[in-house]
Amino acid sequence: MLLSKDRKIPAPSVNPENKPYFDAASQGKLLIRKCAACGEFHHYPRSICPHCFSDKTAWHDAKGVGIVYTCSVLRRGAPEPYCIAYVTLDEGVSMLTNIVDCDLDAVKIGMKVRVLFKPTDGGPPVPMFTPA
Ligand SMILES: [Zn+2]
Repeated sequence: MLLSKDRKIPAPSVNPENKPYFDAASQGKLLIRKCAACGEFHHYPRSICPHCFSDKTAWHDAKGVGIVYTCSVLRRGAPEPYCIAYVTLDEGVSMLTNIVDCDLDAVKIGMKVRVLFKPTDGGPPVPMFTPA
């Protein structure tokens, strides 16, 4: 079953801290934060490193590929079924996201996926993933 292309995705809440993330998303680029003090990536975007509390964090272009860590297809309470998932990026961080544009019943843990960007209802696009 294909996911409807018409599902309305709510606009994300944009603030000064995450605005560069959504500006990049508008250009089809996935950014994650990297800490210069401890070398670890993190997500969602924060200016203080959650690993070592350093403020020496900066934006980094993610490769936009990863694997499905866990997933679930939601069939109730939504006009169309959709697949919610945690995707672990190559950089090691996990993102709560959706798997889209594929047979939802074929989405499996460990599946390789790549990022794409879906328009939202009046806001910037948001990163989602599809089988690589
Ligand atoms: Zn750190």
